[in-house]
Amino acid sequence: MKAIILGSGLIGVTQAYFLHKEGFEVEVIDRQPESGLECSYSNGAQLSYCHAEPWSSPASLIKGIKWLGKEDAPLLFRFRNDPQMWRWVLSFVGYCTSKQVKIGSEKILKLGLLSRKILHENEDYFNFDFSYTKGGKTFIFKTKEEQVAAVKQARFQEQFGSEYKILSQKEVLDYEPALFHHAGNIMGGLRDPLDEAADALKYTQALAKKLQKAGVKFHYNTTIEKINIDAGKVTSIKTDKGDFKGNIYVLSLGAYSPILSKTAGFYLPIYPLKGYSITIDINDENSAPKNSITDAYEKVVYSRVGNQLRVAGTAEFAGYNNEITKTRIDMMKNATRRIFPMCGDIDNASEWACLRPSAPDGVPILGNSPLKNLYLNTGHGTLGWTQTFSSAKLVTDVIQKRKTDLNLEWFKWDRF
Ligand SMILES: Cc1cc2nc3c(=O)[nH]c(=O)nc-3n(C[C@H](O)[C@H](O)[C@H](O)COP(=O)(O)OP(=O)(O)OC[C@H]3O[C@@H](n4cnc5c(N)ncnc54)[C@H](O)[C@@H]3O)c2cc1C
Repeated sequence: MKAIILGSGLIGVTQAYFLHKEGFEVEVIDRQPESGLECSYSNGAQLSYCHAEPWSSPASLIKGIKWLGKEDAPLLFRFRNDPQMWRWVLSFVGYCTSKQVKIGSEKILKLGLLSRKILHENEDYFNFDFSYTKGGKTFIFKTKEEQVAAVKQARFQEQFGSEYKILSQKEVLDYEPALFHHAGNIMGGLRDPLDEAADALKYTQALAKKLQKAGVKFHYNTTIEKINIDAGKVTSIKTDKGDFKGNIYVLSLGAYSPILSKTAGFYLPIYPLKGYSITIDINDENSAPKNSITDAYEKVVYSRVGNQLRVAGTAEFAGYNNEITKTRIDMMKNATRRIFPMCGDIDNASEWACLRPSAPDGVPILGNSPLKNLYLNTGHGTLGWTQTFSSAKLVTDVIQKRKTDLNLEWFKWDRF
């Protein structure tokens, strides 16, 4: 059986691994010269298994309205003539209810915890360096209200297997002494002990190389133009280098998945939400965090990737445009200057922007498609790194017609 994977980001490469393990002949197609060069290139590096609250929430809606038109707000919405955006925004607003937050949180949490389990089960195969650390994550709060809201969410999630510890300001500083510069802005924290961190790009590229040695074919510099179909099935994938044929196909093109699904006659509600990151070489170990930190007030995440500090965040409705905007980068540099001013040369941090493949309910789209031999593993939005292992395993189980670990109805393409 031959499987063709469309896309060589972290999702497509993990999918290739799981199908290769099942004995499939696997080929992966990507327009870039290597794997992981788009959304998976320089993300926040957090394996946030227990951070399950979807972005679509009543609180986000209120904040989103407050931030309208502010170029340096964590969420930047611009009024644009973009029907894909408006259709997505209307659907997103429909999910911003307390009931939907609970439904979404259960799905996201269970997907995250399953991912953690599967990563641990496959650690022997992932025996290459990808700056993988298991030190947990600390949320920091500036106000009591932020902490109360986070604790309420953590208590709700506990019934599904997540863990947490409420921290005083002193306990936050005990975990992360490098926060001392910022102590005056921290009223307390919350710890997710199960969370981890790792470099998504190193993982994606090292796994792709290992799979290549094991016989998986990667067709780089190859742009997919169309999914050819006949009688409810994919017949081939049209690219600028010719047609590719397999028995089954998996769509993992990140934010570009809806563009290609359209050529096969169906709509996927995925919008490209632009995010940014900066990466700083750490000069002074005592001035940098040891593990992941999420600043709830600034909406910025900090993670260790080896001897570097990765800082990521912000969401911008900019369509298919991944240009780096100075205001957004400055916002992250300034946040880092406030919190870890001595960690390294912040002025000369490397800068990056990319498009999160976001579904309106914050839950990925996994499993069957309307075409018999096309499967979907896409739409992971803010948590693709966290969910890559469970997503690939679930999609593999669907392909192999096995019982799945989670209810696949939750992730169906036409649930919206
Ligand atoms: C700023 C930021 C911070 C983030 N932080 C975190 C985090 O801390 N933790 C976490 O869990 N997640 C995080 N994420 C989310 C995570 O990075 C994404 O969900 C994940 O990278 C998506 O992977 P993907 O493989 O679906 O997409 P991509 O990595 O974009 O892969 C899609 C691939 O498809 C290829 N492609 C597209 N169109 C075509 C075509 N026509 N022909 C051929 N190839 C094509 C592209 O070249 C690309 O390689 C973050 C995202 C951003 C933007």
